[in-house]
Amino acid sequence: MVWQCKKGILSNEKYYGDLILQKTYTVDFLNSKKRKNKGEIPQYIVEGHHEAIVSKEDFLKVQAMMSERAAQFGNVPEIRHKYNQRYAFSGKLICGNCGATLKRRLWNSKAKSKQVVWLCKTYINEGKSSCNMKALDDITLKAVFVRVFNRLYEYKEDFAKAFTDNIEKVLKQGAKCEDAFKLDRDISNINEEIKSLVRQQIKGELREDEFDKKYIVLKKMLEDLQVRKEALNIDSNKYDEILKRTAEIKRIINLREIALAEFDDDIFEGLIEKVVVITPTHLEFHLKNGMKVEEEFIKKRGINGLQ
Ligand SMILES: [Zn+2]
Repeated sequence: MVWQCKKGILSNEKYYGDLILQKTYTVDFLNSKKRKNKGEIPQYIVEGHHEAIVSKEDFLKVQAMMSERAAQFGNVPEIRHKYNQRYAFSGKLICGNCGATLKRRLWNSKAKSKQVVWLCKTYINEGKSSCNMKALDDITLKAVFVRVFNRLYEYKEDFAKAFTDNIEKVLKQGAKCEDAFKLDRDISNINEEIKSLVRQQIKGELREDEFDKKYIVLKKMLEDLQVRKEALNIDSNKYDEILKRTAEIKRIINLREIALAEFDDDIFEGLIEKVVVITPTHLEFHLKNGMKVEEEFIKKRGINGLQ
């Protein structure tokens, strides 16, 4: 069973690199359900990539920094938090063209009412020539998220299973537990060699300069192995973090008794790491466990929201 040696699998840096570069797996379990809107069948892509996951260290660093800043400016963290949460999308929308964040703007659309749109920061600051990403309207974005959530909700069992199956598949393909075991064995061997060297030295069987020379070599080898071992543990922690985040996503989905009728800030906040805006009608929702849900849609002229 793959989980038993998961530490071994994920601990190998080289393997981990493979995992990151691995082709994406497309799980289109919805195809078999034959939905009417053929163009709207979503693709659930599970990538074995963990880059989106913030390490515990980074998280703590940011937290510390934030409270430090809050103290500096006389702000209570809770108040800052509330302020930051004013718009669920703030800081979470990424321009697929240039990588900048999208900023909230009000548009006077044909005198009727003010329309809320999200515009690429580069476009705002440097103009069309630097980034030509078009505006994404707030209502559409909310409607698309509702649709994404409801699909996850409707197929929550399939979704959860597909996700774990795919992670397992990725892991099984490159399972190389022996690398971790080999590392442990090498470390233990070198430790034994060092002990024996010290014993020889104490017994007077080794000249001091000979001892020093050998000791330095062994010490260096041991340090290198320990660094690799350390990297293993970090990867393994990242993996545990993904499982934790997946469980949290499942929990949020299961909390709902019925599908969403309208946009919900808390659910968006709980589920979504970021949204990459490929075009204003092609969005990529990145869930907090690294899973990606793509949505492409058509907008009809003169109608807000989705068709
Ligand atoms: Zn841009």
